[in-house]
Amino acid sequence: MTDNKERDDIIEIDEKAEETEEIKDVGDTSGKEDNDDDRRFTNYCSICGRSENKTGKMFRIPGGMCVCSDCMQRSLETMQRSDINYNDLLKNLPPNMGFIDMSGLNEGKTEHKAKKKKKKKDKEKAPEMTMQDIMPPHKIKALLDEYVIGQDHAKKVMSVGVYNHYKRILSEQKDDVEIRKSNMLMLGPTGSGKTYLVQTLARLLNVPLAMTDATSLTEAGYIGDDIESVVSKLLAAADNDVDRAEHGIIFIDEIDKINKKKNTNQRDVSGEAVQQGLLKLLEGSRVEVPVGATNKNAMVPMETVDTSNILFICGGAFPDLENIIKERLSKTASIGFQAVLKDEYDDDKEILQKVTVEDLRNYGMIPEFLGRMPIIFSLQSLTEDMLVQILKEPKNAIIKQYERLLELDEVRLVFDDEALHAVARKALERDTGARALRSIIEEFMLDIMYEIPKDKNIGEVAITKEYIEHTGGPRIMLRTQMVNG
Ligand code: ADP
Repeated sequence: MTDNKERDDIIEIDEKAEETEEIKDVGDTSGKEDNDDDRRFTNYCSICGRSENKTGKMFRIPGGMCVCSDCMQRSLETMQRSDINYNDLLKNLPPNMGFIDMSGLNEGKTEHKAKKKKKKKDKEKAPEMTMQDIMPPHKIKALLDEYVIGQDHAKKVMSVGVYNHYKRILSEQKDDVEIRKSNMLMLGPTGSGKTYLVQTLARLLNVPLAMTDATSLTEAGYIGDDIESVVSKLLAAADNDVDRAEHGIIFIDEIDKINKKKNTNQRDVSGEAVQQGLLKLLEGSRVEVPVGATNKNAMVPMETVDTSNILFICGGAFPDLENIIKERLSKTASIGFQAVLKDEYDDDKEILQKVTVEDLRNYGMIPEFLGRMPIIFSLQSLTEDMLVQILKEPKNAIIKQYERLLELDEVRLVFDDEALHAVARKALERDTGARALRSIIEEFMLDIMYEIPKDKNIGEVAITKEYIEHTGGPRIMLRTQMVNG
């Protein structure tokens, strides 16, 4: 029954509309007959009379009528402007008519607007950073010195880079002279302190830090993490505070692993494509990232993060880069009288310091990527002396931690200098930089930490070179001996 009525209504409107169409299309009768059948099933707006083909999808309202979105919008606006009491109106409606409550649509909009306004207000409320808030480079370096041994050049470059980065953010707030972003590319052997430097820096500056491994990233749509997942990680590190995240640091390790692979016919989804994908993040763009998850999914809320003020630091060991540098150096040197043999650079431990953008391009980093990394510097490989310093000097040095642990048992722990050198030599053999130190020390300290609490008479333990080299044991002193001594 209702279906037939609906059809009748539609046909009636159809006829009216046909009249108007005819006026518009005078002289154009071609194909009219073919369309007649289709037109019977087309919906027409009950207010403006236009067909669904022209207006787009229509709202069906009770009573078999259709209203196009333009008319619906206009009616809503008129209703909002007038002082109609809708409850009274509903009571007096004829039985075959009803109202769709669309006020929610608009309410939603206003709520959203209010939220946006509130967010803006909050932003305005946040105290503005001033030049006094930015730590000058010498202070940043002095703080880094307390934790990171050696790497003076790297610490200096980083301090200046970070200082300029935050000055740039300030200048953007004030005027429109554009200062270039100070993204950094850090080269250095494994265990030389790349990650440690960035971690320490972020902690000292009290900014959120997100670390990721370039090898885990792939072009969007392939197995692996989306490139934009690094921004989600940063947002999580900033406790989902977008403002804080936008001033944070993103560290991408193993950047050398995404070099452009030579001689491949396949699509390089985890190499060159990742470099390409990183470009817009490095440059600064607005990205939509999921909150509380690393991959986009319909169920998680999204936030927009602007990466223009995020400091990107990339690090990599770049194995074999030495050969590229050596080749370039010997090529330039072999022209003319002062030709130098290629072997001359073989013993040069600091060859990585002589790196140029050209060498990195030859290594497989794309020029656009390098162009967005204006600060390129290298870390030194750690020497035996530096390793010894790392063991005992930083604020949170490993042996200081053990000394403190035994102090709680009222036992004094002493490391002979020779023993520390023996540990450093063992670490050098492993070729993993300072990373090996902790495991070597832990290996030797296990027995000490196990045995000492057994005997309350022990007052001091000295770790000797012989103990480290497995030719003797530690030197133990009893409390009575210490008192007498
Ligand atoms: P990588 O260069 O491979 O990123 P890491 O920064 O992870 O090396 O270094 C491993 C560990 O070695 C750090 O957690 C830190 O304790 C120690 N370390 C490395 N270099 C230094 C350094 N220059 N000063 C103090 N500690 C260091």
